[in-house]
Amino acid sequence: MHARKFSQAILEWFDQFGRKDLPWQRDVDPYRIWVSEIMLQQTQVATVIPYFERFIASFPDVVQLANATQDAVLHHWSGLGYYARARNLHKAAAVIRDSYTGQFPEDIDQVESLPGIGRSTAGAILSLALGQSHPILDGNVKRVLARCFKVEGWPGKSAVARELWHLSETYTPEKRVAAYNQAMMDLGATVCRRGQPDCAVCPLSRLCMANASGNQRAFPSPRPKRALPVKQAQMLVVQNGEGAVLLERRPPVGIWGGLWSFPECPASREPSAWCREHFAIKAGVLREMPLRRHTFTHFHLDITPLRMYANNPSNAVLDAGDRIWYKTPDSSGLGLAAPVSRIINELEKCSTVGSVG
Ligand code: SF4
Repeated sequence: MHARKFSQAILEWFDQFGRKDLPWQRDVDPYRIWVSEIMLQQTQVATVIPYFERFIASFPDVVQLANATQDAVLHHWSGLGYYARARNLHKAAAVIRDSYTGQFPEDIDQVESLPGIGRSTAGAILSLALGQSHPILDGNVKRVLARCFKVEGWPGKSAVARELWHLSETYTPEKRVAAYNQAMMDLGATVCRRGQPDCAVCPLSRLCMANASGNQRAFPSPRPKRALPVKQAQMLVVQNGEGAVLLERRPPVGIWGGLWSFPECPASREPSAWCREHFAIKAGVLREMPLRRHTFTHFHLDITPLRMYANNPSNAVLDAGDRIWYKTPDSSGLGLAAPVSRIINELEKCSTVGSVG
């Protein structure tokens, strides 16, 4: 297929239908594009917009992001999930502040070496913000190319990824690359959708091999299925007489790294005794709340929240830096793990707290 014909079809479609008024498309600069690209990984545009606006209002440039506390950054990420993205954003901002005098680097190798930035994101930042010609290959672009050229196999396999990168390199133009890359992402998100490609309105319909053979949905091949293991966690939802709940900061690595969560008590331990031992508080179990499942990339976590009441919480708990009595509405700017936020909201709805018998 002629590369020029391909990119021309994409650019003409962009001029007519492409998205041109997203918040990060105003006052374009590498920092804003970077933040948006990281938020858009695994998250839809409509969800990202309010998060992006709040984030930029609080951290308007890379140095202010670097100088913020990790808690403040995670707080702005609460609800978006995949928190490693936020931690890497914060780490990379510190690298830019310290090694690049606060100026976002403009060399693709330097950008790619920053924490949390892979080849596609580096290409997207430099093409969208500065018009440099770099190919990209996010999930949407993978889908468009895999269908258009009937690329067999799961893109997670390196041979398949290599083939897709080669196609992306071949068809990415030298000029108007910002419009082209934006259009490819938009096309995948709005027309060449995963379950429902709308080939009738697609600018590639006459060039697309999968459309010609009518088996669009066979591409790209899905990830080979494997059953995820299930892990269990018993979380203690301890409230004091003022309705505050006891939270602990999680270790920096592992699930919800650096976020605040309910204390996790081993299933083999009696919760009241465990609380006495760990927090020097007297707390009794009120009831077990319904079990909920949280799914991570590599496993399911079945959480059993145990609602507890502490009559006389010791100040020792408050003195520890990684523990807090947390009260809503939240004024402390803490980043909470998503299931923790949901459970706290449930507590508010049924705010009657009994006492330990
Ligand atoms: S013609 Fe259909 S399958 Fe092919 S790229 Fe367009 S929307 Fe996707």
